[in-house]
Amino acid sequence: MGKVSLVKTAEGIKEGLCKAIDLIGGLGLFVQKSDQVMLKPNLNGLEGYTNKELVEALIQLLIDFSVKKIFMAEATFGDAQMTNMFFEKTGFADLARNYNIELINLNKSQPIEVKVKNPLVMETLRIAREIFEADKIINLPNMKVHYATGITLALKNLKGILVGDEKKRFHEMGLEKAIVDLNNTITPHLNVVDCISCMERMGPRGGDIVELNLIMAGASSVEVDYIGSRIMCYEVSEVKHLDYSIGCKDVDVKTIKVVGERIEDVSYPFKKVSLERLIPAEFNIHNSNACSSCMNAFLLSCQLLEEHRQENINVYMGELVELGVSSNGLKIAFGNCCPKDIEFDKRIKGCPPYPFALRDCLK
Ligand code: SF4
Repeated sequence: MGKVSLVKTAEGIKEGLCKAIDLIGGLGLFVQKSDQVMLKPNLNGLEGYTNKELVEALIQLLIDFSVKKIFMAEATFGDAQMTNMFFEKTGFADLARNYNIELINLNKSQPIEVKVKNPLVMETLRIAREIFEADKIINLPNMKVHYATGITLALKNLKGILVGDEKKRFHEMGLEKAIVDLNNTITPHLNVVDCISCMERMGPRGGDIVELNLIMAGASSVEVDYIGSRIMCYEVSEVKHLDYSIGCKDVDVKTIKVVGERIEDVSYPFKKVSLERLIPAEFNIHNSNACSSCMNAFLLSCQLLEEHRQENINVYMGELVELGVSSNGLKIAFGNCCPKDIEFDKRIKGCPPYPFALRDCLK
């Protein structure tokens, strides 16, 4: 079974990264000079994204190693325009320019349909073309809690290689099992997890920052996520995609060798997501069989709302919605699934709706 390294960044981020990679065998174990190396950071928002200094340090190590080509790639939620905006505002566009490497917006990519081996829910996947041009993939997630999957680390971060609507299909088919199918189809060669500034209470956006000042590295996404879950004080049963992955790959977690820091010295009980605290008090949610994509969009929408809203707003989502007689106040249908024959006060279209649509509807 493989090794997972844990290194504090007290002596500097680059120093920590070098040590974390050395402890699991050194960069030469994972890349060759002839490789085109793709870096997959998490740039999915303006908070809780992968530490730029960590990615820059890795770029420098790969340049010193003389790999043939380095490029970064990511598809965020929303559309290609939103991905570009995140690239600029997180400073990653400048980072790419400074090192003269490509930062590819995968939301603009041509998807390639591939068959999933032993699928749990996804028979095929539409994955960005550029993924297949990389000889090696280095996965660079940020450690966070996640409202739908418990936590998000290496396994979940790979979702950013899907193009456009494919992410939505994941939510429709069942996010946790779809993540397993994706990771059984595309496997990163190295995972370097940014546990420097992490996120608790809510994620992947809108939570509180926790400084662990730690770097975790390992070849296996499942092993890295298991050790990450222990650091965050989550049970495997609370992280379904990890639980399924351990089962699918028949991983004996007891044999994972942790090198560097000890788990018990760096673990921290992350505050778990409490959805109730995220939804403003004046909203009543009526969820009737909506997929998690709609709830995700709604939670994002809540973070974009302006103050001074009217009292008592009922939000309906899902195809089995019925209007209760006691539903006083504004009635909003959220998402295309809401039945067409019911008369709502407002309808927010989309599958799922665009995150700013709720704010605009309430203006
Ligand atoms: S409208 Fe919402 S609930 Fe319906 S399929 Fe789309 S995202 Fe899912």
